[in-house]
Amino acid sequence: MNARAQAVGIVVWLVIICLVSYGTTGSVNPVAVYGRPGTAMKVVMSLLLLMLATQLLQLLVSRLVSGRCSGCGLPLVPYAQTHGAPVRCTKCGKWYHQKCFKQRGGTMMEGCGCQRREATSWWDEG
Ligand SMILES: [Zn+2]
Ligand SMILES: [Zn+2]
Repeated sequence: MNARAQAVGIVVWLVIICLVSYGTTGSVNPVAVYGRPGTAMKVVMSLLLLMLATQLLQLLVSRLVSGRCSGCGLPLVPYAQTHGAPVRCTKCGKWYHQKCFKQRGGTMMEGCGCQRREATSWWDEG
C-alpha cells in the first residue's frame, strides 16, 4: 500500500539526518548539530528535520483520510462534515464518525458496543 512507501520515505529521511549529523558532529544525534558553531549545517539540518516532519504529517493525515467509518463504511475525513468528526472506540480501536458512533449507542466509557456484545454473548448462547 501507499502507507508502506511513506513509511520507507520516513526511514530514508531518518537515515539521511543521522548521516549528515554524524558527518558533521561525529554523533548521530541531530540536536548535536545545533550545539556546534556555524549556521550552514544548522540550516541544512533544520530543512532535513522539516522534511521529516512533513513526511510524518502526511503519513498521519493519509492514514486518517484513507480510514473508513466502521459504522457506515464511508471514508472518515471527507464525510466528517455530514457524519461528524472521526472518533476512535477506546475499546477496540475502530474508527467511526461521531454521529455513526452515537447511532450505534457508542459512548466514550463503553466504546462502540463491542465490549457490551462480548459481555452479553454468552448469556444469549446459554
Ligand atoms: Zn460513519
Ligand atoms: Zn469498539
